[in-house]
Amino acid sequence: MLTREDPMIVNALVRQALSSAQEVMGENGLNAVLRTSGLERFIGSFPPDNLEPSIQASEYAKLNEAIAAFYGRGGRGMLRRIGKASFQYAVREQAALLGIAGIALKLLPEKQRIKFILNSMAGALKKSNPQVKAWVDDGGEKLAYMESTCGICYGRESDTPICHLYVGSITEAVLWASGKEYQIIETHCLAKGDPYCRFEVGEARE
Ligand SMILES: [Zn+2]
Repeated sequence: MLTREDPMIVNALVRQALSSAQEVMGENGLNAVLRTSGLERFIGSFPPDNLEPSIQASEYAKLNEAIAAFYGRGGRGMLRRIGKASFQYAVREQAALLGIAGIALKLLPEKQRIKFILNSMAGALKKSNPQVKAWVDDGGEKLAYMESTCGICYGRESDTPICHLYVGSITEAVLWASGKEYQIIETHCLAKGDPYCRFEVGEARE
């Protein structure tokens, strides 16, 4: 396990995560996991939509872990659904932060559109916190979204990749940009001891 800094996550992103989790899990479900992850202070009281520091990555990771534990075998699917909802929330409520306000992608080739939205996601994270290291790798055969400061798996260890919420967000982002549901595969994860979390854009589902 690499030791890394415990970066802060800003209010706007915590608000996005909590709103999406509540949408998918219901208020009682969300409140239960807020209690088990030591985040009771957010029960009935979401942070404002601004870029002030809110919680530490380690706390965000605990929330993800608590959701996985709450649903057991269904945890992965729930986290993906929350991730999808959080990208939709960002499009609806945080278009400026995401850098998509007034953008028309129609005329670009599909790969460029996908690259655009992945770069926008990385850019929004970096705008919210300069400590974040997120980027798009377009050097290989497949496009991949990378982050070496991932908050979802912060301080967690696993034999398999665990950033299911991220997979959901990227799936939804690529769908938004291309109109197609692509398979997103987390090939590397910091929780496995890899130097970054890597999400590969696989094949489009027909
Ligand atoms: Zn991760």
